[in-house]
Amino acid sequence: MGRKLAAGNWKMNGTSADLAEVKALSAAHPAPSVDILLCPPATLLARMSDLAAGGALVTGGQDCHAEAAGAHTGDISAGMLRDAGATHVILGHSERRTDHGETDTDVCAKTAAALAAGLIAVVCVGETEAQRDAGETLDVIGTQLAGSIPDGCTGATLVVAYEPVWAIGTGKVPTLEQIAEVHDFMRARLAARFGDTAADMRLLYGGSVKPGNAPEIFATSNVDGALVGGASLKAADFSGIIAAL
Ligand code: PGA
Repeated sequence: MGRKLAAGNWKMNGTSADLAEVKALSAAHPAPSVDILLCPPATLLARMSDLAAGGALVTGGQDCHAEAAGAHTGDISAGMLRDAGATHVILGHSERRTDHGETDTDVCAKTAAALAAGLIAVVCVGETEAQRDAGETLDVIGTQLAGSIPDGCTGATLVVAYEPVWAIGTGKVPTLEQIAEVHDFMRARLAARFGDTAADMRLLYGGSVKPGNAPEIFATSNVDGALVGGASLKAADFSGIIAAL
């Protein structure tokens, strides 16, 4: 396994004034021992990428369209994200799946488009609370993994984030045993499908990661980093998480 990855998802938060956080984050980590990714809203992507250029921090989008261009008002293509300086794109976040009805098939097509444009895909999977309570967690994760990820992915092009829907923005976190169970399962499923390169696919945990709980989560089996929402908005919080990796 290569370097660990601290990924921040700003979601629909942030305006020009918040770019000060990026400057502070870059200044605090001139030569980090882990990879640092920030995914701002599309309106900030180009400026954040320019600010980060030359430093250790890289940027990503939060979604892309499956097509390269065309009549899709309000959408953004993977190539446009690249053009704005992104190296990564988050796909299939549960908020996209819920707010926009994205299916595994949609996410798979978007992921293929991202890879074709030269982006690294951060594909999100995760069960709802009802699915966990019903004992369906591994079935749900297995189905999402199989359906949301196209053939041909490698450790260099695919990151998978396990984000239990009930842990996102709630302050609730699975037990370390629950995280390990899902991450071990994901590694095995990816290895069965993609072979040796699956060992290099970074598996992130996401859902209420904070500086306080990051050390124990990062010490958990097959956890190669985190996808962080709320605690990625302020450089001080995100730095605490980066320091724990
Ligand atoms: P949270 O969000 O860290 O605010 O829980 C995580 C995510 O949705 O990626």
